[in-house]
Amino acid sequence: MKKNTNILILGALGQIGSALTKQLREIYGANSIIASDIRLDNDKILSDGPFQIIDATDYNQILECVKKHSIHTVYLMAAMLSANAEKHPNKAWHLNMSSLFHVLNLAKEGYIKKIFWPSSIAVFGPTTPKYNVPQQTLMTPNTAYGLSKLAGEGWCAYYHDKYGVDVRSLRYPGIVSWQSMPGGGTTDYAVDIFHKAVFKEKFICFLKPDTLLPMMYMEDALRATLKIMDSEVSQISVRTSYNISGMSFTPEQLFNSIRNYCPEFLIEYKPDFRQSIAEGWPGTIDDSKARQDWGWKPSYNLVQMTQEMIKNLKDC
Ligand code: NAD
Repeated sequence: MKKNTNILILGALGQIGSALTKQLREIYGANSIIASDIRLDNDKILSDGPFQIIDATDYNQILECVKKHSIHTVYLMAAMLSANAEKHPNKAWHLNMSSLFHVLNLAKEGYIKKIFWPSSIAVFGPTTPKYNVPQQTLMTPNTAYGLSKLAGEGWCAYYHDKYGVDVRSLRYPGIVSWQSMPGGGTTDYAVDIFHKAVFKEKFICFLKPDTLLPMMYMEDALRATLKIMDSEVSQISVRTSYNISGMSFTPEQLFNSIRNYCPEFLIEYKPDFRQSIAEGWPGTIDDSKARQDWGWKPSYNLVQMTQEMIKNLKDC
């Protein structure tokens, strides 16, 4: 077990938080990892190590836990994602920003030493180039979620530059996982589609067949997260958030990939309000800065991810 690693995860029951909690517990030992959320509906996370109800919008609740457990690092995974945020923009701003400020202030005041905070490809907008989006580019997001992530990136850089806060961030693409269901984003279709295929149901897709979006398999997302957090301070030159890329595909390409294993599988396209969110986002991402700085490299392409998703969901 590595030393000095008491870790608090806020939003630990979400799609990424639950997989991250499991992995961090495996690496550092369950007792070093304090999982927290505002709900209690994941038996495995609740029974496999310490768990506490913490509202990430309440500074004192976080501070109490940080002091009690001598927390060194906080992973802030609580947020309202893109599709839900369009329905509740004020609530999304409140949750996404106040939780970030609380954690940044805990580091500024010296209670914690290190923060992981995920940004998103939602920081890009209609003015951003569609393909091979560079690290530095035009960013005018037109969603409530994207606005909160872009503002958050700016505040992370500000707290690093002014107060020396060691906050590290990745612009996650859509994350595909079999372990946990997504929580109200625009790329959720890429998880739902596998469940429908494996359970032999027709899939109704809320995006058009040719909507190209950047995506990543959960294993790669976790590896990138742990790699940036384990890197030396000198390797981190970007204090807003790093572009990272896994693969890009359209719903039609994903459907065709799944059909190789589930030949009877059927899809119908019924685009809804999420189509316009997706149309504001890029199709492919240039992650050369993350590759240069701390050696990022994805492992999974569409074919490997499809195989893994189907295999694991069939085994569930
Ligand atoms: P999720 O919606 O699945 O999980 C969020 C968790 O936060 C939930 O368990 C929820 O109960 C919890 N939560 C909500 N309000 C809370 C509060 N006030 N206090 C404490 N917990 C609260 O989200 P996710 O997919 O796991 O995303 C984690 C992070 O990664 C978020 O910052 C998200 O914006 C970012 N991200 C995710 C994706 C993706 O595809 N999943 C893509 C880009 C960025």
